[in-house]
Amino acid sequence: MTEYSLPLPVLEGHSADFYGFCKEGELRFQRCDGCGAWRHVPRELCAECGSWEWTWTLSSGKGEVFTYTVVGRALHPAFDDSVPYAVSVVEMEEGVRVLSRVADVEPGELEIGMPVQVDFEAVTDEISLPIFRRVTG
Ligand SMILES: [Zn+2]
Repeated sequence: MTEYSLPLPVLEGHSADFYGFCKEGELRFQRCDGCGAWRHVPRELCAECGSWEWTWTLSSGKGEVFTYTVVGRALHPAFDDSVPYAVSVVEMEEGVRVLSRVADVEPGELEIGMPVQVDFEAVTDEISLPIFRRVTG
């Protein structure tokens, strides 16, 4: 594995849990035990009902491109060699939105509403990032 040079998530608290599941190939989100609402990014309290009780619940991994932007000029030096690249917000079937990228689609080919499926990219021994791939057919 070549050394990964882009910024990585900090593994602490709920973030460590989230990425721990990703490392196992599972996309899990918090789901409120009180009202059933899904949420992401991870946080303590349900914004719908105020409950502190929740469970890490397996996502179907399916969603669609909610919106995206194409970055033409890197805003961080680590991304100098990556431009142009697209950043996408994927809306999952469960309703939560994930900031990620669609790995196998060129920036100019992205479309809002494009169906996608989660995949995981092992970028270090500890971290696998959730990415998305286009669903065809
Ligand atoms: Zn709730």
